[in-house]
Amino acid sequence: MATEQPTYKVFDGHNDVLLSLRLKERGAGRSFFERSDTGHIDLPRAREGGLRGGFFAIFTPNPDPSDSFAGGFTQTENGYEVRLPQPLEQPYALQFTVGMLASLFRLAAESAGQLRIIRTADELDACLAEGTASDGPLAVVAHIEGAEAIDPALDALYVLHAAGLRSLGPVWSRPNAFGHGVQFKFPATPDTGPGLTDAGRALVRACNQLGVMFDLAHITEQGFWDVASLSDAPLVVTHTAAHALSPFTRNLTDKQLDAVRESDGVVGVIFGVGNVRADGRHEINTPLDDIVRHAAYIADRVGIDHIALGSDFDGAAIPQALGDVTGLPRLLTALQAHGFDDDAMRKLTHANWQRVLRQTWK
Ligand code: ZN
Repeated sequence: MATEQPTYKVFDGHNDVLLSLRLKERGAGRSFFERSDTGHIDLPRAREGGLRGGFFAIFTPNPDPSDSFAGGFTQTENGYEVRLPQPLEQPYALQFTVGMLASLFRLAAESAGQLRIIRTADELDACLAEGTASDGPLAVVAHIEGAEAIDPALDALYVLHAAGLRSLGPVWSRPNAFGHGVQFKFPATPDTGPGLTDAGRALVRACNQLGVMFDLAHITEQGFWDVASLSDAPLVVTHTAAHALSPFTRNLTDKQLDAVRESDGVVGVIFGVGNVRADGRHEINTPLDDIVRHAAYIADRVGIDHIALGSDFDGAAIPQALGDVTGLPRLLTALQAHGFDDDAMRKLTHANWQRVLRQTWK
């Protein structure tokens, strides 16, 4: 495939490169600083694709493989469903999380300034202002996907925040002490279970107070509305798509999209084929146009100030036409061809995330 020069600096809503570097089955052993054919992101490929940073997820997998997406998968008459994984033990999740956070700090230390852990909006703006799309430092925001590492008294939250945590998704798609993750199911509404627990409500308030971004990807619809009625920060969903186009439980309904817009929040458009295909199938033979359709629909619904990118690189199967992070310029060209002008592209690729983080962090 022809390589296109990256034009826009991309700050992206979600990737799982830290997990990909750690787990044997995902390609552990490769170096973040050397070009590889494994996974979707490393530094040379990020540069080639114009990825200048984003939310780097710390995710704790279930220890039992039968509790994975593949392990719980059942085909249904017109789609599929995945059994909810067992809850994690908090000490296990905390230990795993500390290890992942340490791996991020080690990468930053080895990077000679090429990878920077971002803790403030000024640091983010300054980092992204340096260099071009393909040669500046990476702006990395530490994000936890699923708050199992945090005890109900929230002691670990304060320590993790002091260590650099600036974004937290209360749940992944499994239950925990704070709430209920949305079950993977297609076709189905996101209303798959209860919302926040009392501890979950305390977590929202503490994150508001500390200035930790609260990510509503993977939460049940009830949990989404619980947070919407409680939080004083803009509503944020880092990696998702439009339920109206692809009726997957992980995607947002029109009413949820409206709530994000009204809160001055942001929706990161995911590239995962299971989210963007109208038939919900996990096939990488999926045109870039499926991502463009979701971006156009969401931009129409929420307005150009409330849409961003949330790739799920190294976490989801993405279209073969994208391949890995080096395919980003092809996707951006397709978005421009669809009618996103220069101002819209600037907002979508990074400026909206910068605005929302400035409003959210303190
Ligand atoms: Zn996710």
